[in-house]
Amino acid sequence: MTVLIDSARCIGCGACVVECPVEALDLVDGVAVVDPAKCKDTGSCVKVCPANALSLPEGVVKPSEAPKAEPGSKNEVNPPLPDTVKDYAKTEKKAAAQVNPGDVWSGVWVVIEYSRGEVAPVSWELLGEGKKLANDLGCELAGVLIGHDVEKVIPEAFAYGAEKVYVIDDPVLKDYRTEPYSEAVTDLIRKYQPEIILMGATAMGRDVFPVIATKMKTGLTADCTVLGIDPDSKLLLQTRPAFGGNIMATILCKTRRPQMSTVRPRVMAMPPRVEGRTGEVVYEELGIAENDVRTKIVEFIKGDAKSIFLDKAEILVSVGLGLGSKKNMALAEELAEALGATIAGTRGAVEAGWISHDRQVGQTGVTVRPKLYIAIGISGAIQHLVGMETSDYIIAINNDPEAPIFRVANYGIVGDLNEVVPALTAEFKKRLQHGVAK
Ligand SMILES: Cc1cc2nc3c(=O)[nH]c(=O)nc-3n(C[C@H](O)[C@H](O)[C@H](O)COP(=O)(O)OP(=O)(O)OC[C@H]3O[C@@H](n4cnc5c(N)ncnc54)[C@H](O)[C@@H]3O)c2cc1C
Repeated sequence: MTVLIDSARCIGCGACVVECPVEALDLVDGVAVVDPAKCKDTGSCVKVCPANALSLPEGVVKPSEAPKAEPGSKNEVNPPLPDTVKDYAKTEKKAAAQVNPGDVWSGVWVVIEYSRGEVAPVSWELLGEGKKLANDLGCELAGVLIGHDVEKVIPEAFAYGAEKVYVIDDPVLKDYRTEPYSEAVTDLIRKYQPEIILMGATAMGRDVFPVIATKMKTGLTADCTVLGIDPDSKLLLQTRPAFGGNIMATILCKTRRPQMSTVRPRVMAMPPRVEGRTGEVVYEELGIAENDVRTKIVEFIKGDAKSIFLDKAEILVSVGLGLGSKKNMALAEELAEALGATIAGTRGAVEAGWISHDRQVGQTGVTVRPKLYIAIGISGAIQHLVGMETSDYIIAINNDPEAPIFRVANYGIVGDLNEVVPALTAEFKKRLQHGVAK
């Protein structure tokens, strides 16, 4: 017996092809077909079909009801997949996400990260960026909201620009876990076929997006710093540092869908919040019960309240190797104190042991977007610039007039930091005391 396919219902999305653990399914002329010699009636294809086009023959036990089979036996459900590389090479040819005639693949989606009552602000930043992409493509901008008790977030999503919000609200999704979250988003993608999907390069985004991209057999560009639409091909232009940050590479995902990118917090500007804006809400069910989830949350331990959150600071005083020695940190600290600023720095300063790694700005540190960034003795290597060049105002102090930092600075002071910084601190203190500067 093999799985039954209702070809009139099949939408040719290929979800079953990717899901089948024994590679018994294929797409022929946009319709799923089964190889009876290979089919083991595992039922995994039935579960993922968004069009209910597949069913198991009568009398076949569903996977969840089947008695546990001996590993390696003929009846084993979801037997171990073959060697990963070999497997990928085989399945790649018949990937679900390939752009086939008749596919929809339209719209820009942003996954709104919601956890323990809080939305990661990068989600709103990406709605702002997503709107520009959607305008260039002439399509809709939608938010994807996965979690539990998420209702109050929906008006916020509209306020930040979403025209539609896809919601999966289920107690199983109360605390983030890779498995149910990735299943939920992947199910939505298979059903509604967005052309582009974005998420913040946060701990959650970095964890779940690669899983979703793998399930969809599509590409993912992580940590993009610029996104755009190619006017001719209408493809997503995904720009990010490459080769150790020495070049900015623009990456295309030409033949697979959706096109997927993550973007770090604070890289894109926060869009204006428009109270009262509304849109369409689409509710979907989570197809997973708690018993199906292999990971359990045993305890939730909150991070140290004293942790440094550079990406939230409004003023940063940032130090580089030009400082010369640890004792000169006092110059920067005094300036930071006068301004109520947070100390940050380059990788050089971290490696010299002058600041801790959680204060490092740049490609392998934090991306920041403060109102004011004061760079002291920093050359302006590309790996540093990608983490701070979108700051509102940049003041750079360097004794080399050719230092690359001056190319991104709004105000450049060419001089010895040992003289410039104390003079600046004294002036700020004087003016702030008299309430002149703010
Ligand atoms: C894969 C990779 C990832 C990286 N990730 C990061 C990252 O995340 N963040 C990061 O910062 N770097 C990163 N780097 C390192 C980066 O390439 C640079 O080496 C680093 O940013 C340089 O730090 P700096 O500006 O402190 O030092 P330098 O490049 O040595 O610059 C010191 C500057 O101080 C000036 N100076 C010296 N004396 C004085 C003085 N008395 N008064 C005024 N100015 C003075 C000099 O003219 C010079 O411009 C990465 C590198 C690689 C390969």
